[in-house]
Amino acid sequence: MSENTPLRNLVIVGSGPAGYTAAIYAARAGLEPVVVAGSVSAGGALMNTTEVENFPGFVDGIKGPELMEAMRAQAEKFGATIIWDDATSLDLAGPVKTVVTGHGDTFQARTVILATGSAYRELGLEDEKRLSGRGVSWCATCDGFFFRNREVVVVGGGDSAVEEATFLTRFASKVTLVHRRDTLRASKVMADRAMADPKIELAWNSQVVAIHGSEKVTGVTLSDTETGQTRELAADGVFVAIGHLPRTELLIGQVDLDEFGYVAVEPQTTKTNLEGVFACGDLVDRTYRQAITAAGTGCSAALDAQHYLSALDPTVVDPEPPVGSLVLPA
Ligand code: NAP
Repeated sequence: MSENTPLRNLVIVGSGPAGYTAAIYAARAGLEPVVVAGSVSAGGALMNTTEVENFPGFVDGIKGPELMEAMRAQAEKFGATIIWDDATSLDLAGPVKTVVTGHGDTFQARTVILATGSAYRELGLEDEKRLSGRGVSWCATCDGFFFRNREVVVVGGGDSAVEEATFLTRFASKVTLVHRRDTLRASKVMADRAMADPKIELAWNSQVVAIHGSEKVTGVTLSDTETGQTRELAADGVFVAIGHLPRTELLIGQVDLDEFGYVAVEPQTTKTNLEGVFACGDLVDRTYRQAITAAGTGCSAALDAQHYLSALDPTVVDPEPPVGSLVLPA
């Protein structure tokens, strides 16, 4: 270990609701966590969300970025250090873990909490990458403004797609929601809102099989999932909202993943197969993937890390309170 690299209790990699909640709990427990929050993606997926209506405690909803800013400020208030950089390499085996950032800073710690969340899933079409930023987008909040009075396509049938479609009606003259089945996966309240919107048209049982345009998007080819028939649809933009994949690129070959590519954790805990390494949020969650469930597992990861550290060093206060007792900050 270099002289300039103190051995810390905890480094948290990632800064969505899971990472920041872990930071709040760990900081309140006196662990002085460092949060490697990301350079452009700090705050996680909620930074690209508009209104969050289902995070408990906000009767009138709250904007995703506002919620994340509040979580960050709360973590810092209790002593977490936020590093606005990406983790570029991790060494998680052994009692001392190393996290290196894009700017070359090295952090060493007894425990690491992995909370890198998930990334946008791609359609996998030939022209999708080429036309990315030229009409193909994964973020209506970021790019919707460029489609004023234009016609756009949104692909997907979950809450993300419906939310993106609804948001895009602020700008676009027409939004075609392309879904591969005949029912939406999205929650009823959001689906009803989208279906009642006169600017949104549903293309049921349809799959985008090609995106057209040389310099920018001009349209898509849709294929009927039942008949196989194809049709052309003119469009200036294509918003892909077909879910997410766990961001495990730094972890492959280090921690065990499950059969779906999510970090495997011991049931009812956030413990990975490596001692002192914990994982939470979308990185471990194929089922719920809500801000509140990510925050919940972030809390669990901080408590698991604290418990682990207290076994190494009894001066770290064990988080397990006797039933009915009050938990005081360390
Ligand atoms: P999701 O629920 O997994 O939905 C993904 C959608 O994309 C599904 O409709 C799926 O079709 C479709 N799809 C997947 N791969 C596809 C492909 N290759 N081609 C065409 N379509 C494809 O993902 P999500 O909408 O991103 O939501 C993720 C989680 O975040 C959910 O739990 C959701 O409730 C939550 N969320 C909540 C809010 C909110 O409350 N404000 C907003 C956004 C997301 P099938 O239906 O046929 O599988």
